[in-house]
Amino acid sequence: MTQKDNKTAIFPGSFDPFTIGHESIVRRALPMFDKIVIMIGSNVNKKSFFSIGKRLKWINQVFKNEPKIEVRVHDGLTVDFCKEVNAGYILRGLRTSSDFEYERAIAQVNKKMHPEIETVFLLTLPEHTPINATIIRDIVLHGGDASMFLPEGLDPDEFLSESPK
Ligand code: ADP
Repeated sequence: MTQKDNKTAIFPGSFDPFTIGHESIVRRALPMFDKIVIMIGSNVNKKSFFSIGKRLKWINQVFKNEPKIEVRVHDGLTVDFCKEVNAGYILRGLRTSSDFEYERAIAQVNKKMHPEIETVFLLTLPEHTPINATIIRDIVLHGGDASMFLPEGLDPDEFLSESPK
């Protein structure tokens, strides 16, 4: 089987936390792929708000009834992870023109270095455009109710009551 016969995509991100914007991209992309591996990037130089363990648990909870989805943690280059899981596609979401400029550069450099891997973009739903993890973290940090921005499978009580780490 060639890499293109196997339609595996990875959806990389920090997901700190995983929002309804992320969830929507994954669910909309599901019919296009045989499998989607959600890759939580664990950049050792980047301080996270929620621990890797929590993010892993929460995303698994959201997709517990979805056999085509796997959640993994990876510390390193996204393209190396593609090779590890034999994925031919990188899935990304686009909200704004600044997302586009940032994503364009990464995707074009990846394409130059690894022509066999395609980056696929889905435009965010209009109602998800303003949702970003930084704002959600601020709401949680200051005791606000962020549950409307979090996937339904997540237990908001657990999310809001436990300390971030
Ligand atoms: P990164 O730090 O790699 O940008 P994120 O967790 O912020 O990781 O985002 C992962 C992917 O999800 C990116 O492609 C990003 O553009 C997309 N994304 C983030 N928030 C949303 C949203 N509200 N709607 C659609 N896509 C989103």
